[in-house]
Formats: sequence, C-alpha cells, structure tokens
Amino acid sequence: MLDLKKDYHVHSNYNDHSPQELSIENVTRYAEKISLNTIAFAEHVRKTSDWIPRYLEEIDKMASTGTKLTLISGFEAKILKDGTVDFPNEYEGHFLIASFHSKYNNKREWLSALKSAICLPYVKVIGHLAPEESFDLTDGELVELSQLLRTNSKTVEINAKYKRPPMKWLRIFKDNKVNFHLGSDAHKLSEVGNFEAIANLIDYVDN
Ligand SMILES: [Zn+2]
Ligand SMILES: [Zn+2]
Repeated sequence: MLDLKKDYHVHSNYNDHSPQELSIENVTRYAEKISLNTIAFAEHVRKTSDWIPRYLEEIDKMASTGTKLTLISGFEAKILKDGTVDFPNEYEGHFLIASFHSKYNNKREWLSALKSAICLPYVKVIGHLAPEESFDLTDGELVELSQLLRTNSKTVEINAKYKRPPMKWLRIFKDNKVNFHLGSDAHKLSEVGNFEAIANLIDYVDN
C-alpha cells in the first residue's frame, strides 16, 4: 500500500525558482497541519551547489524542535549522459532522487544513462520516470528495467507534478514487484502532500 502520509519529494526555497513561502519551517508546519508523518526534502542540487551545509543544518535544526514529523534531508540530482548524476559526492548517504531534467531524443543514450544511474549505490530513488515524445520502451525493456531496479533496491517515485510514470510502465513495474513511493514534487506550499492528481495511479498500484 502506498502511504499517503509520506511525501518523499518536496522542494524548498533553497532552489532559485520556488517561492519564499517554501521555507523549511513553513513546509514542516504545513505538513504537520495536514497530518503527514514524513517529509523528504529533495532540493535540486548540482556538483557546484554552495548552499548545502546551510540547507542540511536548517533541516537538522527543524528536526530537533520536537516535531512529530520525520524529516529526511535529501536531494534531487540530474542524470547525466555518461550515466553519473550531477551530485557532489561528499553528500553520498543522504536521500537522493535521480531524475531526467533534459531531453535526450535518443533512446539508446537515455536507456544507457538510466541503467547506469540505477546501479549507483548512493541513488535511492528514480524520480518522475517516463518516456520522451520521440520514443517509448518495449514491454521487454520495461521488464528488464524492473529487474535492474529490484536488484539495486531502487524505488520508483509516483510523481504528482508530472503524473508519472505512465500507467503502462506502472503496470509492468508492479507485475515485477518494483518498490514505489509517493512524491508531490511540491514547488508551492499547497502542493505538499497533495496527491489528488495521481489518484488513478495510486488506486492502480494499491489494487
Ligand atoms: Zn525533477
Ligand atoms: Zn523535483
């Protein structure tokens, strides 16, 4: 069963495109108000990000204020064409979502980068996974991907912002016992813990 009280993909005002209302404190208070029990902050990170110590410290501080919420400090990093992720390695061990953030227009390159990223031990989750307009995966490729995800203990996120993965992918992942969790990918306070847009996907996975 997917746990609607846990949101594993929330942004904060540490990125350059989310509103100030998305402070660590505001997200925590809002999540308490709507009775979530777990929040994973998954801020967009690059190898060059210089705000990470402040960000981690602020989440730690918040966690020590006696909130009942489990606060996970983590990151979302871009999968690069060489199959690595744009992530500063000194933070390995933190919760890490690896996602595609640019178009490849090349299935072979895309699939190869994805498979390498799945094999990275410090990646925990594959974020908002879906095909591009110019290609789709065959059932056989999706079965193979499922096995790789399982062997490497990776979770596939069901993402409310992009409504992904698509149902066909979800079906094959589910049949092959891939692990799922929910991520709102909130870039606004009102999106935290809000999974209404993917009610059909949640329903499918749970039944
Ligand atoms: Zn993303
Ligand atoms: Zn995101």
